[in-house]
Amino acid sequence: MSNAARTSVKQLRVLDFGRANIDLGAVMAPGDLDGVWAICAFPAYLIDLADGRHVLVDTGPNRRHIREPMYEFAGMPLAEGLQPQLTDADDPLNRLAEVGLTPADIDMLILTHTHFDHAGNADEFSASEIVIHQDAYAAALDAGQRGYAHKPGRIPEFAADGTPLRYRLVAGDTELVPGLTLLETPGHAPGHMSILLHLPETGAVILAIDAIYSAANRRFGNYKIGADPEQGRASAERLIALEGREGAWMIYGHDPDQWQELLKAPEGYR
Ligand SMILES: [Zn+2]
Repeated sequence: MSNAARTSVKQLRVLDFGRANIDLGAVMAPGDLDGVWAICAFPAYLIDLADGRHVLVDTGPNRRHIREPMYEFAGMPLAEGLQPQLTDADDPLNRLAEVGLTPADIDMLILTHTHFDHAGNADEFSASEIVIHQDAYAAALDAGQRGYAHKPGRIPEFAADGTPLRYRLVAGDTELVPGLTLLETPGHAPGHMSILLHLPETGAVILAIDAIYSAANRRFGNYKIGADPEQGRASAERLIALEGREGAWMIYGHDPDQWQELLKAPEGYR
């Protein structure tokens, strides 16, 4: 069967929800990149389905970081090594508007985990089914009001307008639609999820999210940052094996070099 026949995914678009100046040694690869700084993006992904529905993966850092860069983690240990630099253009509402969409057009929102840079604006998505791993959801319920850096954040129960948000809890690997499978990759955070896509022309794509931050993490075998580093290593190795089996293209979570090469929305990969 051709890719086109077994997928209902039409296009993948990469959304730029802002960036930060990051001490890679402190935040991404301790011991291997100490003292190295880089501008790393906070990506999100828009997956357009063939039937016209839209799936959003992650919601970026809370928009308050635009005016108040250290909003969620000033004074916390990692704050020294992570300096958000967000502009108005990076607001998810503005990025969605650039492709002609609003949150009301997002049928499914996947929250890969609840760190501050992945789940910050979830309360905009009252129209969406919000898909999250049950372990990430449980960790978020236990979290303080604000997530910061590598702590799970509390996720909202209600939208800004008071509407209850609709969560769908998943566990294990989950094929959401043909060609879009959620992969259980815990370690970086409880219930962390990566995504395997089959695009009609590009073929298999793995969105590693934070199971593999960057090509450098993979090169050094450095998966130290996270809730459970050994589990994180197993998840990263699982993705690397899957990449080989599927002949997939791996998009890393926050790779500063790969980011430069990626097509950004409104362009996309088909
Ligand atoms: Zn992240």
